[in-house]
Amino acid sequence: MEDLKQCAVCQSKSLAVFDKTGHIKICKECGYKFTSPRIATTKEISDMDQKYEREFIKGFDPARAEHLYLRRVGLVRKYLSRGAILDVGAGPGTFLYFLKAAGNYQLHGTEVSQACVACAKNGLGVLLDQGILEAIRYPDASFDGVVLLHVFEHLPDPVVTLREIARILKPGGFVFIAVPNDSLLGRKGYLRYALQKFVGMRKKLMYPDYVKEGNWHLSHFTPSVLRKTLEVAGFSVKEATVDDAWGDIVKPWHKRGRLTLALLMNKIFGCILYDAQFFVGQKI
Ligand SMILES: [Zn+2]
Repeated sequence: MEDLKQCAVCQSKSLAVFDKTGHIKICKECGYKFTSPRIATTKEISDMDQKYEREFIKGFDPARAEHLYLRRVGLVRKYLSRGAILDVGAGPGTFLYFLKAAGNYQLHGTEVSQACVACAKNGLGVLLDQGILEAIRYPDASFDGVVLLHVFEHLPDPVVTLREIARILKPGGFVFIAVPNDSLLGRKGYLRYALQKFVGMRKKLMYPDYVKEGNWHLSHFTPSVLRKTLEVAGFSVKEATVDDAWGDIVKPWHKRGRLTLALLMNKIFGCILYDAQFFVGQKI
């Protein structure tokens, strides 16, 4: 296990334990939350992610996926109606498949899981490069846009990866990031925890167990920390909005209502009161 002694975002060594399992640390300087101790090597992380991806393929349903990717495709189109797009951690290639129909794009993708690369090729006709982004070494200024959909929270060092993305983006290129929202009003169970803490029932929040329960998120971003992470790596934030992470074809009224309300609050106040967030950054 690797126990990180320094914040990956602001480099501060002033850290505190954040959750009850002791696997979530928080940087006292910038508020970045990350999993530590954690498995140490990139290979181990990618092995775990492959297990995750296999489960993902098992539950893969293109009909459901189309609805899920609708809003994300629209957000990419808003900034880029054409050009070379790289989807990092493309899974079975679903996002690229739906993006293809939306504009004149050259599609590229990376994926650590061999099973997913095969699924993308055979299932949707999408060709992906197998491996970790930093190891593939694309040439400088190769892409107009780089997309990471619920991938960024699995990466060992978010700033290192963003700097690599800045290198392979053309000047003024965009990065699109969707991650879970780990803020008080985004994370499920937070409000209940806040009440229990208030009445003295609980001292620390419980995150799912890192290994046993398959909580393979290495970073836990609030919107403000995600913004700072992008800025540290050389991006200016162009948009911070809600990610429709569930994308059910037919949402029950309360789910639909919650998403509509979150979108409205985002439009009026700029806040993200939802389970997942979607950021657009532009390379400075
Ligand atoms: Zn920090």
